[in-house]
Amino acid sequence: MNFDNVKVPVENLIGEEGQGFYYLMGGLQLERLCGAVSAIAGCEYALNYSLEYMGQREAFGRKINRFQVLRHRVAQMASEIESVKAFCYNLCELHQNDQYAVKECSMAKLLATELSDKVMYQCLQFLGGYGYMEEYKMARMFRDSRILTIGGGSSEIMREIIAKMVIDDVEFKAAKIPTEMSQNGSSNGNGSSEDAFEKIYHIIEKNASKSRALGNTLKFDLGGKHIYINGQGDANSVSKSDIDADCTIKLSNEDFMALLKGQLNPMTAVMTGKIKISGNMGVAMKLQQLLN
Ligand SMILES: Cc1cc2nc3c(=O)[nH]c(=O)nc-3n(C[C@H](O)[C@H](O)[C@H](O)COP(=O)(O)OP(=O)(O)OC[C@H]3O[C@@H](n4cnc5c(N)ncnc54)[C@H](O)[C@@H]3O)c2cc1C
Repeated sequence: MNFDNVKVPVENLIGEEGQGFYYLMGGLQLERLCGAVSAIAGCEYALNYSLEYMGQREAFGRKINRFQVLRHRVAQMASEIESVKAFCYNLCELHQNDQYAVKECSMAKLLATELSDKVMYQCLQFLGGYGYMEEYKMARMFRDSRILTIGGGSSEIMREIIAKMVIDDVEFKAAKIPTEMSQNGSSNGNGSSEDAFEKIYHIIEKNASKSRALGNTLKFDLGGKHIYINGQGDANSVSKSDIDADCTIKLSNEDFMALLKGQLNPMTAVMTGKIKISGNMGVAMKLQQLLN
């Protein structure tokens, strides 16, 4: 798609102008990890599908799962799938603990997606002529696997990143979403949740008053306490009302403060369920103007 000379009305702007690349970068490791996980899930599915077929298909008087050459291929692939899967679990844990594992996520994406191509190729072979036919799932799985080493950063680019880190000691740090708010207020876990909520309320009130009107209504649900922003007029007005809003963002006080400090990436927070958004997603994208 190519957009040329397109004017986007201010109310349709998603997020902050000029920050698009930072939003994108914030999701790259998770995208790679998701790519690796889906590749491994696909491998497991394809292998099980093939094993079922091999247990039924007969050639030369026996089931084809009795041929040693095929059995060894299955054994090899099952072992490789298991090891890359364990690596992925390990990275999921790192991700869960907010660790920015660029090298490892790139390695997992590379290994898992390349393994997927190999598994799909072999599994199609197990099905013989049927594997090639569109009537069998295998043909589609074989074709679909090919995008995995291309999209979300191609294998060549993964190798480039890994080589830079392994050979040249290059470090890639998490992109921080710029925020002036990082110095304002903090929740170090020592104060009560009441104090933390009041602190957040004042931060939002202050920011909302100086930022342009949202054009919508937005509500924060912070552990059952609410902050309601009505930005439908010329300016944003803030209250503690629990009124239905165009969009409701549910998160904890701690996660809200982590967002402000740039310690928690918004996209990661949404994808890992730390932030739950209901209603109009476009309104949630305007959150950035309340954080800066
Ligand atoms: C079905 C599909 C869905 C997609 N979905 C999305 C999406 O949702 N969002 C999105 O942003 N993009 C999406 N993409 C785009 C995808 O990320 C790109 O296709 C991918 O990054 C490769 O870019 P390219 O196609 O321009 O290939 P090119 O950049 O032209 O690369 C061609 C070949 O050259 C290699 N190459 C390129 N640069 C280098 C280098 N520096 N060193 C070594 N080798 C190199 C590549 O690895 C590749 O093998 C999608 C693509 C497809 C096919």
